[in-house]
Amino acid sequence: MELTFLGCSDAQGVPRMACECAVCRGASLDNHNRRSRSSVWLTADGHHALIDVSPDIRSQYLIYRNGVVPDVVFLTHAHNDHMGGLGDFGDYCFWNALNVLVVAAPEVMELVQDRYPYLKRRRGIEFVSATDYQLGAWHVTFHRTNHGYNGFSYAIVLQKPGQRWCYAVDAFDVPLPDLQPLMGADVLVMAATHWDESAAVRSHRSVYDVQEALALRHTLQPKRFVLTHLAHSIDWEAHTPLLPPGVELAYDGLRLTSQDIEGGYREHSDS
Ligand SMILES: [Zn+2]
Ligand SMILES: [Zn+2]
Repeated sequence: MELTFLGCSDAQGVPRMACECAVCRGASLDNHNRRSRSSVWLTADGHHALIDVSPDIRSQYLIYRNGVVPDVVFLTHAHNDHMGGLGDFGDYCFWNALNVLVVAAPEVMELVQDRYPYLKRRRGIEFVSATDYQLGAWHVTFHRTNHGYNGFSYAIVLQKPGQRWCYAVDAFDVPLPDLQPLMGADVLVMAATHWDESAAVRSHRSVYDVQEALALRHTLQPKRFVLTHLAHSIDWEAHTPLLPPGVELAYDGLRLTSQDIEGGYREHSDS
Protein backbone atom coordinates (compact mmCIF):
# COMPACT_ATOMS: atom_id res chain seq x y z
CA MET A 1 0.00 0.00 0.00
CA GLU A 2 1.14 3.45 -0.81
CA LEU A 3 -0.81 6.56 0.16
CA THR A 4 0.10 9.99 -1.19
CA PHE A 5 -1.43 13.20 0.10
CA LEU A 6 -2.43 15.19 -2.98
CA GLY A 7 -3.84 17.81 -0.64
CA CYS A 8 -4.21 18.17 3.14
CA SER A 9 -5.92 21.50 3.81
CA ASP A 10 -9.22 22.44 5.37
CA ALA A 11 -12.06 23.73 3.21
CA GLN A 12 -10.45 27.11 2.48
CA GLY A 13 -6.97 25.97 1.48
CA VAL A 14 -3.70 27.48 2.68
CA PRO A 15 -2.99 30.26 1.93
CA ARG A 16 -6.58 31.39 2.36
CA MET A 17 -7.88 33.89 -0.16
CA ALA A 18 -6.88 37.41 0.86
CA CYS A 19 -5.61 36.30 4.28
CA GLU A 20 -2.65 38.25 5.62
CA CYS A 21 -1.70 35.98 8.53
CA ALA A 22 1.93 34.87 8.85
CA VAL A 23 1.24 31.26 7.81
CA CYS A 24 -0.72 32.32 4.72
CA ARG A 25 1.81 34.98 3.70
CA GLY A 26 4.74 32.62 4.14
CA ALA A 27 3.11 29.43 2.82
CA SER A 28 5.24 27.43 0.43
CA LEU A 29 5.70 23.78 -0.48
CA ASP A 30 9.16 23.97 1.12
CA ASN A 31 7.84 24.84 4.58
CA HIS A 32 4.83 22.49 4.12
CA ASN A 33 2.35 25.28 4.77
CA ARG A 34 1.06 25.54 1.19
CA ARG A 35 -1.86 23.11 1.18
CA SER A 36 -4.50 22.26 -1.38
CA ARG A 37 -7.87 20.79 -0.45
CA SER A 38 -7.86 17.26 0.92
CA SER A 39 -7.61 14.15 -1.21
CA VAL A 40 -5.29 11.16 -1.25
CA TRP A 41 -4.07 8.73 -3.87
CA LEU A 42 -3.80 5.04 -3.03
CA THR A 43 -1.82 2.41 -4.87
CA ALA A 44 -2.55 -1.12 -3.73
CA ASP A 45 -1.68 -4.38 -5.45
CA GLY A 46 -1.35 -2.60 -8.79
CA HIS A 47 -4.69 -0.81 -8.40
CA HIS A 48 -5.09 2.94 -8.12
CA ALA A 49 -7.77 4.67 -6.08
CA LEU A 50 -8.52 8.26 -5.21
CA ILE A 51 -10.17 9.20 -1.94
CA ASP A 52 -12.19 12.39 -2.44
CA VAL A 53 -12.04 14.66 -5.46
CA SER A 54 -10.73 17.96 -4.20
CA PRO A 55 -11.71 21.22 -5.93
CA ASP A 56 -7.94 21.39 -6.60
CA ILE A 57 -7.93 18.04 -8.42
CA ARG A 58 -6.71 19.46 -11.73
CA SER A 59 -3.55 21.01 -10.30
CA GLN A 60 -3.02 18.00 -8.03
CA TYR A 61 -3.26 15.71 -11.02
CA LEU A 62 -0.74 17.75 -12.96
CA ILE A 63 1.70 17.67 -10.06
CA TYR A 64 1.42 14.08 -8.89
CA ARG A 65 -0.33 11.70 -11.25
CA ASN A 66 -0.45 13.03 -14.77
CA GLY A 67 -1.41 10.15 -17.04
CA VAL A 68 -2.47 7.66 -14.40
CA VAL A 69 -6.15 6.91 -14.12
CA PRO A 70 -7.63 5.60 -10.86
CA ASP A 71 -9.69 2.41 -11.08
CA VAL A 72 -12.06 3.83 -8.55
CA VAL A 73 -12.85 6.96 -6.55
CA PHE A 74 -14.10 6.74 -2.96
CA LEU A 75 -15.98 9.71 -1.50
CA THR A 76 -16.12 10.43 2.23
CA HIS A 77 -18.95 12.95 2.05
CA ALA A 78 -20.64 15.46 -0.19
CA HIS A 79 -18.99 18.70 0.91
CA ASN A 80 -17.41 21.01 -1.64
CA ASP A 81 -13.87 20.67 -0.26
CA HIS A 82 -14.06 16.87 -0.69
CA MET A 83 -15.95 16.47 -3.95
CA GLY A 84 -15.92 19.87 -5.67
CA GLY A 85 -13.50 18.59 -8.33
CA LEU A 86 -15.97 16.02 -9.68
CA GLY A 87 -16.95 18.30 -12.56
CA ASP A 88 -13.33 18.54 -13.77
CA PHE A 89 -12.70 14.88 -13.07
CA GLY A 90 -15.89 13.84 -14.89
CA ASP A 91 -14.89 15.92 -17.92
CA TYR A 92 -11.45 14.31 -17.91
CA CYS A 93 -13.03 10.83 -17.84
CA PHE A 94 -15.55 11.79 -20.54
CA TRP A 95 -13.02 13.23 -22.99
CA ASN A 96 -10.72 10.26 -22.56
CA ALA A 97 -13.53 7.69 -22.91
CA LEU A 98 -12.76 6.21 -19.49
CA ASN A 99 -15.08 4.39 -17.18
CA VAL A 100 -14.15 5.14 -13.59
CA LEU A 101 -16.31 3.99 -10.69
CA VAL A 102 -17.21 6.59 -8.07
CA VAL A 103 -18.20 4.79 -4.88
CA ALA A 104 -19.88 6.31 -1.83
CA ALA A 105 -22.33 5.30 0.85
CA PRO A 106 -25.95 5.56 -0.40
CA GLU A 107 -26.82 8.73 1.55
CA VAL A 108 -23.66 10.42 0.25
CA MET A 109 -24.21 9.21 -3.30
CA GLU A 110 -27.72 10.65 -3.33
CA LEU A 111 -26.31 14.11 -2.56
CA VAL A 112 -23.51 13.72 -5.10
CA GLN A 113 -25.93 12.81 -7.88
CA ASP A 114 -28.20 15.73 -7.00
CA ARG A 115 -25.19 18.02 -7.33
CA TYR A 116 -24.00 16.55 -10.66
CA PRO A 117 -27.11 15.30 -12.51
CA TYR A 118 -25.40 15.61 -15.90
CA LEU A 119 -22.53 13.30 -14.92
CA LYS A 120 -25.03 10.56 -14.17
CA ARG A 121 -26.22 10.58 -17.79
CA ARG A 122 -22.83 10.71 -19.46
CA ARG A 123 -20.13 8.18 -20.15
CA GLY A 124 -16.87 8.52 -18.23
CA ILE A 125 -17.79 7.86 -14.65
CA GLU A 126 -20.26 5.48 -13.07
CA PHE A 127 -21.84 6.23 -9.70
CA VAL A 128 -22.06 3.28 -7.31
CA SER A 129 -23.86 3.33 -3.94
CA ALA A 130 -22.07 0.92 -1.64
CA THR A 131 -20.45 0.66 1.74
CA ASP A 132 -17.87 -1.91 0.72
CA TYR A 133 -15.59 -2.56 -2.22
CA GLN A 134 -12.75 -4.93 -3.05
CA LEU A 135 -9.52 -3.23 -4.19
CA GLY A 136 -7.17 -6.09 -5.07
CA ALA A 137 -6.56 -7.94 -1.81
CA TRP A 138 -7.86 -4.99 0.22
CA HIS A 139 -11.39 -4.93 1.55
CA VAL A 140 -12.62 -1.35 1.65
CA THR A 141 -15.47 -0.39 3.97
CA PHE A 142 -17.27 2.88 4.71
CA HIS A 143 -18.28 3.83 8.28
CA ARG A 144 -20.57 6.72 9.18
CA THR A 145 -19.05 9.29 11.53
CA ASN A 146 -20.55 12.37 13.11
CA HIS A 147 -19.39 15.64 11.48
CA GLY A 148 -20.85 17.89 14.20
CA TYR A 149 -22.54 21.05 12.97
CA ASN A 150 -21.93 19.96 9.36
CA GLY A 151 -23.77 16.64 9.45
CA PHE A 152 -22.00 13.39 8.69
CA SER A 153 -19.01 11.96 6.90
CA TYR A 154 -17.77 8.43 6.25
CA ALA A 155 -14.47 7.01 7.43
CA ILE A 156 -12.88 4.70 4.88
CA VAL A 157 -11.12 1.58 6.15
CA LEU A 158 -8.89 -0.58 3.95
CA GLN A 159 -7.84 -3.91 5.31
CA LYS A 160 -6.33 -7.21 4.39
CA PRO A 161 -4.97 -9.90 6.73
CA GLY A 162 -2.35 -8.26 8.94
CA GLN A 163 -2.88 -4.65 7.81
CA ARG A 164 -5.43 -1.90 8.32
CA TRP A 165 -5.32 1.65 7.01
CA CYS A 166 -8.01 4.18 7.95
CA TYR A 167 -8.86 7.55 6.45
CA ALA A 168 -11.24 9.45 8.70
CA VAL A 169 -11.79 13.06 7.68
CA ASP A 170 -14.24 15.60 9.01
CA ALA A 171 -15.28 13.74 12.14
CA PHE A 172 -16.30 15.29 15.43
CA ASP A 173 -17.70 13.99 18.73
CA VAL A 174 -17.93 10.47 17.34
CA PRO A 175 -19.61 8.09 19.82
CA LEU A 176 -17.33 5.32 21.03
CA PRO A 177 -19.10 2.45 19.17
CA ASP A 178 -18.65 4.32 15.86
CA LEU A 179 -14.91 4.64 16.52
CA GLN A 180 -14.54 0.86 16.69
CA PRO A 181 -13.55 0.38 13.00
CA LEU A 182 -10.68 2.85 13.48
CA MET A 183 -9.08 1.09 16.43
CA GLY A 184 -5.63 -0.45 16.26
CA ALA A 185 -4.91 0.71 12.69
CA ASP A 186 -1.44 0.46 11.20
CA VAL A 187 -2.05 3.88 9.70
CA LEU A 188 -4.79 6.25 10.82
CA VAL A 189 -5.26 9.49 8.92
CA MET A 190 -7.60 11.83 10.73
CA ALA A 191 -8.80 15.38 10.15
CA ALA A 192 -7.73 17.93 12.78
CA THR A 193 -8.40 21.36 11.36
CA HIS A 194 -6.98 23.66 14.04
CA TRP A 195 -4.39 23.32 16.78
CA ASP A 196 -6.81 24.17 19.60
CA GLU A 197 -10.47 25.13 19.25
CA SER A 198 -11.40 24.91 22.91
CA ALA A 199 -12.46 28.58 22.88
CA ALA A 200 -14.98 28.01 20.05
CA VAL A 201 -18.68 27.31 20.62
CA ARG A 202 -18.84 23.53 20.70
CA SER A 203 -22.26 23.25 19.07
CA HIS A 204 -20.91 25.12 16.02
CA ARG A 205 -17.90 22.88 15.59
CA SER A 206 -17.60 20.18 12.95
CA VAL A 207 -14.07 18.69 12.97
CA TYR A 208 -11.72 17.64 15.78
CA ASP A 209 -8.77 19.85 16.64
CA VAL A 210 -5.23 18.54 17.19
CA GLN A 211 -5.62 18.39 20.98
CA GLU A 212 -8.75 16.24 20.69
CA ALA A 213 -7.07 14.00 18.11
CA LEU A 214 -4.15 13.48 20.50
CA ALA A 215 -6.59 12.51 23.26
CA LEU A 216 -8.38 10.09 20.91
CA ARG A 217 -5.08 8.45 20.11
CA HIS A 218 -5.08 6.78 23.53
CA THR A 219 -8.35 5.08 22.61
CA LEU A 220 -7.59 4.34 18.99
CA GLN A 221 -3.94 3.24 19.41
CA PRO A 222 -2.80 3.62 15.80
CA LYS A 223 0.76 2.61 14.96
CA ARG A 224 1.14 5.69 12.83
CA PHE A 225 -1.15 8.69 13.25
CA VAL A 226 -1.25 11.36 10.57
CA LEU A 227 -3.30 14.54 10.96
CA THR A 228 -4.74 16.18 7.86
CA HIS A 229 -7.36 18.80 6.81
CA LEU A 230 -5.06 21.42 8.33
CA ALA A 231 -6.07 25.09 8.39
CA HIS A 232 -3.85 28.19 8.40
CA SER A 233 -3.69 28.01 12.20
CA ILE A 234 -1.28 25.09 11.74
CA ASP A 235 2.33 26.04 11.08
CA TRP A 236 3.94 22.75 10.04
CA GLU A 237 7.47 23.60 11.11
CA ALA A 238 6.50 25.21 14.43
CA HIS A 239 3.91 22.60 15.44
CA THR A 240 5.61 19.38 14.32
CA PRO A 241 8.18 19.36 17.17
CA LEU A 242 5.33 19.71 19.68
CA LEU A 243 3.79 16.37 18.70
CA PRO A 244 4.60 13.11 20.50
CA PRO A 245 6.42 10.34 18.61
CA GLY A 246 4.07 8.41 16.35
CA VAL A 247 2.02 11.49 15.44
CA GLU A 248 2.70 13.73 12.48
CA LEU A 249 1.16 16.52 10.43
CA ALA A 250 0.45 15.76 6.80
CA TYR A 251 1.74 17.92 3.99
CA ASP A 252 1.00 18.01 0.29
CA GLY A 253 3.14 15.30 -1.29
CA LEU A 254 3.67 13.24 1.87
CA ARG A 255 3.82 9.56 0.95
CA LEU A 256 3.24 6.67 3.34
CA THR A 257 4.05 3.09 2.42
CA SER A 258 3.46 -0.29 4.07
CA GLN A 259 7.23 -0.67 4.32
CA ASP A 260 7.77 2.37 6.48
CA ILE A 261 5.03 1.62 9.03
CA GLU A 262 7.56 -0.24 11.09
CA GLY A 263 10.21 2.42 10.41
CA GLY A 264 10.64 5.82 12.05
CA TYR A 265 7.48 7.90 12.18
CA ARG A 266 9.48 11.10 12.03
CA GLU A 267 11.13 10.37 8.70
CA HIS A 268 9.33 13.03 6.70
CA SER A 269 10.88 11.83 3.50
CA ASP A 270 9.92 13.33 0.18
CA SER A 271 11.54 10.52 -1.74
ZN1 LIG B 1 -13.64 19.12 4.91
ZN1 LIG C 1 -17.00 18.33 5.59
